Amino acid sequence: MSRKFNTLENKLGDKKINLNEEVEKILLDQGAISVGFATKKTLEGGPPTTDMTYILPEAETAICFAVPLDKPKIRSFLGKELPRGHFDHVIDNGNVYLKAYKYAKVTSDFLEEKGYKSAPVINNFKYREDVQNWRTKLPPPLALRLVAARSGVGSIGWSGNILVKGYGAAVLLGALVTSAKLKPTESIPPEESPCDKCKLCVNVCAYRMFDKNEEDSYTLGENTFSFSKRNNVSRCYTVCGGSSGLDKTKKWSTWSPGRTPYPEKEIDADKTFAHLFSHPIKNSRVVGEEGSYAESELLHDKVAQEYISSGEIASNTITENFTLTCGNCQLICWGDHDETVENYRILTNSGCIVTKENGENIIVSKEEADELEKSGKIADPYVETSERRQYVENIVVDIFKKLRKEQA
Ligand code: SF4
Ligand code: SF4
Repeated sequence: MSRKFNTLENKLGDKKINLNEEVEKILLDQGAISVGFATKKTLEGGPPTTDMTYILPEAETAICFAVPLDKPKIRSFLGKELPRGHFDHVIDNGNVYLKAYKYAKVTSDFLEEKGYKSAPVINNFKYREDVQNWRTKLPPPLALRLVAARSGVGSIGWSGNILVKGYGAAVLLGALVTSAKLKPTESIPPEESPCDKCKLCVNVCAYRMFDKNEEDSYTLGENTFSFSKRNNVSRCYTVCGGSSGLDKTKKWSTWSPGRTPYPEKEIDADKTFAHLFSHPIKNSRVVGEEGSYAESELLHDKVAQEYISSGEIASNTITENFTLTCGNCQLICWGDHDETVENYRILTNSGCIVTKENGENIIVSKEEADELEKSGKIADPYVETSERRQYVENIVVDIFKKLRKEQA
């Protein structure tokens, strides 16, 4: 199938359309901006997480699509604007996960009515629980980024996120699988990728999860996709998980009040994660911020509830307490060099969150944070320890040690 049906601009009119086109139209009409089709053959040679039969034994085609995030809300989030910069984006991001699931469900129901077995894919917070140490590896039911790259929904950027022309990485992915044998779409040639290798995604990761020079790659159905080598996933688990957010440079932070020093070595990254895992932050609310995911109307939607109750991790994640403190590698990259540079400038000038002695979290400049630190006026939320906490910490470090040995 040619790529001409893959974008919104080429949305079809009234002419007679085939099943690929019908499916694409259903997704675009709901709000998707790019749609691709991958088959077992085009995904051949990929890692186990590209096996679509894990979700549906009869699956022949995976249909993947992108849904855009709200860019002005991303800017306010990156700039740590008060009062709504944090939660306006959190609400949008949570809602886009739910919308993507809904789009997949509607399309899956359509295909079921046509007589094909189909199933929507849970697009985040659900993992393959039959994989050993799944809680550490977090293997998704289907590797949406690889399916999206192979089917031409977008291009894999240096960060490993999917970039869609005109939107950059400011999108979330959704998918469904079906027994219908649909025509696969081609991947986007590397020379047409919106990723210009500016590598700003490397520097907006507070714990530097991505290598600046070394590459990794996957080959699927004879197409190879390259992106940065991951240094250690525990770096992202710590920062994206909200346990710490102070950047390596100490000039800015994410929305997390955690200020644990940058781990230089990989073993330090594991130890930091383990320590913070056993010392969860009790109060991450920032003085002056307003909003919460409880405001989301979608949260109470019937189909969204199906998504929410679909798995152990999912059910604990998208709740009224849903929050995000990072996502920077994805959020800054808008597929346009000047816009991405501007996002980088906004984030790196947004200041740091610190916890005062009275437990309040406030946003201050680097200079103010240094001053407070020098005079001992920043609280350390991690001093408290106990035998039980130490026990948990040791177990987590051991699990990561084994995982890294396995990966080596
Ligand atoms: S920020 Fe975006 S465009 Fe720049 S290297 Fe990273 S993925 Fe590529
Ligand atoms: S989400 Fe945040 S912590 Fe995770 S890799 Fe991206 S920038 Fe780093």
